[in-house]
Amino acid sequence: MTNEQTLILIKPDALIKSLIGNILTELSEMDVDIVGAKIVKVSKELAEDHYRNLKEKDFFDELIKYIMGHYHTKRVLALVYEGEDAINKMRKIVGSTHPEEAHPTTIRGKYGRITSKGIFENAIHASESKKEAEREIKLWFDPDELTNTIYPAKKVEVKKQELVWS
Ligand code: GDP
Ligand code: MG
Repeated sequence: MTNEQTLILIKPDALIKSLIGNILTELSEMDVDIVGAKIVKVSKELAEDHYRNLKEKDFFDELIKYIMGHYHTKRVLALVYEGEDAINKMRKIVGSTHPEEAHPTTIRGKYGRITSKGIFENAIHASESKKEAEREIKLWFDPDELTNTIYPAKKVEVKKQELVWS
């Protein structure tokens, strides 16, 4: 088993239900370390890139609205965890995609639901594989937003406008 990093998103349905504390407690029992965390207002571009593998699905448009927070609150908590076998450990505690099929002791089993419109409100995202974890972490975080990164990074000169306090 190897040291891995994985992307976790606490989704807008979990945020509006004030479940952050409960979910972080469950994740903290998995013997992995937080190396990055931020609240994100998800843009359409980020949502579509994150879920680009599901573009052909009939639920794609609803999924994009859901992760952008159109049904709940326009925020997600994005986290990167690092540790031995982190990807599988997190997928296990997160539970099955369909909230009704998720085991009752998992996060989705406890806090997920399916709406009468058929939208999966499953509270949390966890990367599926090493390849996906790397792609997702690089999509959501810059290298200097992580206290530790297992992926190579380089310094480049960037000229850009930045928002500062006035
Ligand atoms: P995950 O890796 O367990 O999150 O599952 P997938 O990668 O297959 O799907 C990504 C997300 O799309 C899920 O977490 C759900 O939010 C949503 N999703 C997946 N399948 C369905 C579906 O059949 N219907 C709806 N409405 N949403 C779905
Ligand atoms: Mg997935």
